[in-house]
Amino acid sequence: MDAELADLRARGLGRWPRLLEGPQRPIARYDGREVINLCSNNYLGLADHPALKAAALDAIATLGVGSGAVRTIAGNMAIHQQLEAELAAFKRTEAVLLYQSGFTANAGTVAALLGPEDVVVSDELNHASIIDGCRLSGAEKKIFPHKDAEAARRLLAASRGARRRLLITDGVFSMDGDIAPLPALVEAAEEFGAIMMVDDAHASGVLGQDGRGTVDHFGLHGRVHIQVGTLSKAFAGLGGYVAGSRALVELLMARARPLLFSTSHPPSVAAAALAAVRLVQQEPHLIARLWRNARRFKEGLQRRGFDTGASETPITPVIVGDERRAMALSDHLFEEGVFALGIAFPTVPRGRARVRTIVTAAHTDAQLEAALEAFARAGRAVGVL
Ligand SMILES: *Cc1c(COP(=O)(O)O)cnc(C)c1O
Repeated sequence: MDAELADLRARGLGRWPRLLEGPQRPIARYDGREVINLCSNNYLGLADHPALKAAALDAIATLGVGSGAVRTIAGNMAIHQQLEAELAAFKRTEAVLLYQSGFTANAGTVAALLGPEDVVVSDELNHASIIDGCRLSGAEKKIFPHKDAEAARRLLAASRGARRRLLITDGVFSMDGDIAPLPALVEAAEEFGAIMMVDDAHASGVLGQDGRGTVDHFGLHGRVHIQVGTLSKAFAGLGGYVAGSRALVELLMARARPLLFSTSHPPSVAAAALAAVRLVQQEPHLIARLWRNARRFKEGLQRRGFDTGASETPITPVIVGDERRAMALSDHLFEEGVFALGIAFPTVPRGRARVRTIVTAAHTDAQLEAALEAFARAGRAVGVL
């Protein structure tokens, strides 16, 4: 372990994460320092919202702190089912199944539906939880170049012998902030009778009407069989879910190993999520504000000469290229009072190292302006500009 750690450190990896003291907010205390926080997935600023806190506290007072068992034994609480019903109405699907996280929703669903006689066709930049689900399933993996729907189509065409074919993509890609070409992928899936699955972790509460996700954004209701969402990003708490048909949900309840072998959410977690799902529909100005802030910040970076890559969403990378320089930019920014993470290989391809930013609905204009000025100073200091 010591040798492995030494090797990681020599490559600038294996850094211990910065320590957050106090709540997750636009100005937060990391490593003992108040900084403008551009690192969280707290898109709508709900992580310490009074309505969500009140809902969680009320659930603790009336229902306790734990569910006491896995869902399929004795831990299937009414609040879980209520959350599923409201999420299904939100997503406009027949049914929803709750998981403990977006990670287990992806990995558990793919592994439950596919076996060695099946083929999965997957975007090369799909999330690690999808990749793990594919591995667990034993299905044959066919990877297509990022966002290349025609390549995906060819891989489906070449898999006619499979029992099931699953075409799977992230809705919004977490390192680049670009959006999947879902209409073209759906057409390819329909042509070959493949199951279409989209992981909307970064689109939930962000994209589409009231944050319903990429399916809503592209007007594809009823044509995507499996939508995965998370309750851990814009919805600010913890959890994941699968939205689809009643048959899908019943099958997963019987087969998905995270449900069969890991305890369900504490009621407070489900209650906070329920409050979040209601809030995004009652207060559409939150999502409007998120997009306004994201556009403003992205344009500000571009005007100052930074390369924001293919970003079309609030995830805005500043592409640097060289790994050491990306890390130096991140460190300099922290000195300037801005927290934005440097990201290098293997999380992103070699030569595409970057500093990734996510602004939230809760950032003020003054905070965004100060962050842009800090970027300009740090960019000059480390030779990115
Ligand atoms: C964050 C993320 C997940 C995992 O969601 P959690 O709820 O944090 O487990 C899955 N897929 C993508 C694309 C993500 O960005």
